[in-house]
Amino acid sequence: MTQARRIHILNPRLANQIAAGEVVERPASVVKELAENAIDAGSQRIEVDLENGGARLIRVRDDGSGIAEDDLPLALSRHATSKIESLEDLEGVASLGFRGEALASISSVSRLELMSNIAEDPRSGWRVVAEGRQMEPRVSPAPHPRGTSVSVRDLFFNTPARRKFLRTEKTEFGHVEEAFRRLALSRYDIGWTLRHNQKTLHQLRGADDTAGRERRIAALLGSKFLDNALHLDLEASGLRLWGWVGLPTHSRAQADQQYFFVNGRVVRDRLVAHAIRQAYRDVLFHGRHPVFVLYLEVDPAVVDVNVHPTKHEVRFRDGRLVHDFLFSSLHRALGEVRPNAVSPDAA
Ligand code: ADP
Ligand code: MG
Repeated sequence: MTQARRIHILNPRLANQIAAGEVVERPASVVKELAENAIDAGSQRIEVDLENGGARLIRVRDDGSGIAEDDLPLALSRHATSKIESLEDLEGVASLGFRGEALASISSVSRLELMSNIAEDPRSGWRVVAEGRQMEPRVSPAPHPRGTSVSVRDLFFNTPARRKFLRTEKTEFGHVEEAFRRLALSRYDIGWTLRHNQKTLHQLRGADDTAGRERRIAALLGSKFLDNALHLDLEASGLRLWGWVGLPTHSRAQADQQYFFVNGRVVRDRLVAHAIRQAYRDVLFHGRHPVFVLYLEVDPAVVDVNVHPTKHEVRFRDGRLVHDFLFSSLHRALGEVRPNAVSPDAA
């Protein structure tokens, strides 16, 4: 007979490390979480710097609202957020974050330093680090321009089993670049920079008009896509779908250039994927994949984003309605090109 073992509460660092397993898979996940915080803070410029594919350093700098001195220790604590207060808030949540877990999780598996300033005076500002088993945050003065910088060094240094799963510098950087692409495509009004080992790979000016959007898409997906895409913007029953869908002749062998955003959040959704596949069914050769950058805008109350910690999944209150709207919008747009949609030529 097994003897009952005593129950104890996990120490905070271990609890955070366990939670980190769900959201912090690799450097790209850290970039996503930090950049989403920068977006939520109302930033106009966001800079992402990496060293060694992000394994040595990930730094995200923004010019957003900053964090008040008194709130700094809380920012690194689990279940601490400024974004929601009640269940009703969650149901209509417009911010990308709301779980209050990312910074606590990341800081439990790396050496994290956060600097922030809510004042215009660049001589003011504060620095906070969380250390030790109990992760007591230490706050000290440090000058910083208005906004926030978070540096994450030596990801998984204290969780060797996770560190072992990191791939080569090139592979990890590839994932970061993909995360960066999604972020930059989610907010055209924000200026974005991506640097790797001191080399600037993307420097994207913020401009949320047609020219600005097309310039960004060309920079991130190549100009050939726009030459071979249809622009659409349709609205029905409280749903709006806009963006660009590639012509069937611009299809690809892999489903590697497909971006679908719901209220500014990139999602992978079976219902969405199905509707798009159906719409392209008659015009694409078997085994070919369409290229698209699409934005679905819905009332936040009709979509549940609290399905998974990474928030890559969503649940629509009326899935049927969304499916039919997507299918009919795309089917109609593609219908106009159907007669000569035959041979695939693009990569
Ligand atoms: P969440 O985003 O779910 O609230 P996080 O752990 O990512 O949780 O962040 C905790 C809190 O720290 C946020 O609610 C926010 O108040 C603050 N914060 C984090 N990053 C930034 C930032 N770049 N600018 C301003 N505030 C931030
Ligand atoms: Mg967050």
